Amino acid sequence: MRIYADNAATTKMSRTAIDTMIPYMEEGYGNPSSLYVLGQQAKEALDEARATIAAVINADPSEILFTSGGSEADNQAILSGAALGAKKGKKHIISTKFEHHAVLHTLNKLEKEGYEITLLDVHENGLVDPEELKEAIREDTALVTIMFANNEIGTIQPIRELGAICREKGVLFHTDAVQAVGHIPVDVKADNIDMLSSSAHKYHGPKGVGFLYFKKGVRLQNLIEGGAQEKGRRAGTENVPGIMAMAAALKEASDNLEKNRAHLTAARDRLIAGLSEIPHSALNGDREKRLPGNVNFCFEGIEGESLLLLLDDKGISASSGSACTSGSLDPSHVLLAIGRVHDVAHGSLRLSLGEDITDEEVDYLIQSTKDVVEYLRSFSPVWRDLEAGKTPHIL
Ligand SMILES: *Cc1c(COP(=O)(O)O)cnc(C)c1O
Repeated sequence: MRIYADNAATTKMSRTAIDTMIPYMEEGYGNPSSLYVLGQQAKEALDEARATIAAVINADPSEILFTSGGSEADNQAILSGAALGAKKGKKHIISTKFEHHAVLHTLNKLEKEGYEITLLDVHENGLVDPEELKEAIREDTALVTIMFANNEIGTIQPIRELGAICREKGVLFHTDAVQAVGHIPVDVKADNIDMLSSSAHKYHGPKGVGFLYFKKGVRLQNLIEGGAQEKGRRAGTENVPGIMAMAAALKEASDNLEKNRAHLTAARDRLIAGLSEIPHSALNGDREKRLPGNVNFCFEGIEGESLLLLLDDKGISASSGSACTSGSLDPSHVLLAIGRVHDVAHGSLRLSLGEDITDEEVDYLIQSTKDVVEYLRSFSPVWRDLEAGKTPHIL
């Protein structure tokens, strides 16, 4: 059996997205900036895609900027918020400890440029406390950036409430919604969002394309200078095939959202129940407030890498927040942020399910993980010490 259970890393393109893309490479390959019919047709197609995307998140088409993906949208949103603040002498930015690196590394850069960054704690359940945001906002706060749903542990933040706090205090609010858009309902108006990042390859669209929603009146700072594309906010000939496929994938995900959500939630819960039977294991992130397809566990006495390699042997593609996958020896900053100690954080497993997952496949995931964990523990010195009582169990 082969199971792709790493949909938080990327997804397979949907047939609809592929079929939408091809004509824009074969016949409709015009440059949207060209004046002849072929170019103008491409421009009209882009307008259509913009309207489709805007409708899904309840925005106006003029509030959608096409980007090369989630990372670029995060960078542009945060640098724009920072620049707008600086003009008014505001150089304080609030975020959280478990953001994606596209956010955290951009904030690091700003810190070196003289901005003050406050990173809110994420509680054991993987959620931010709105009261703590309220307390952290100051007179000189330029921007708040908090992710909609976490890519590792899948927790969904109370975005509407966090956005309302920012509105009330007159602070710009950005959310990295890369894991949310196409998977759970997102409504930029109701959710009080000023800027939002999204990426097509997380909802069965192509890689290398995404968008930034920016509320009317929010002035964006350019990352790329050059031509007048995107009303002068992002230079470079538009990725027409990619954008068309992104819009088609998002429309499809949105049309099927409730059906997919119900199916994935049932599969997720079956998987969580099965993996919970493994002794000295723990689910990471809130049991209820999590993405429909996200399961993330820590197993004591296990190395995440070994677990992944052995699961791969069994045909399972999964992910671990730990060490060597990212080329560093530090365990996942997300797991550390929710209070997992280093040893435990190293033994993590993320299974992010696809919409076509079956019960039979879930059962195979459970059995395979049980077998691999038991096998790895059978010769783990760390596990031997835990079982002999030389070191206390944490989970
Ligand atoms: C994947 C991801 C990104 C980066 O998106 P790209 O399109 O790959 O640049 C940013 N934030 C989150 C939460 C993600 O899951």
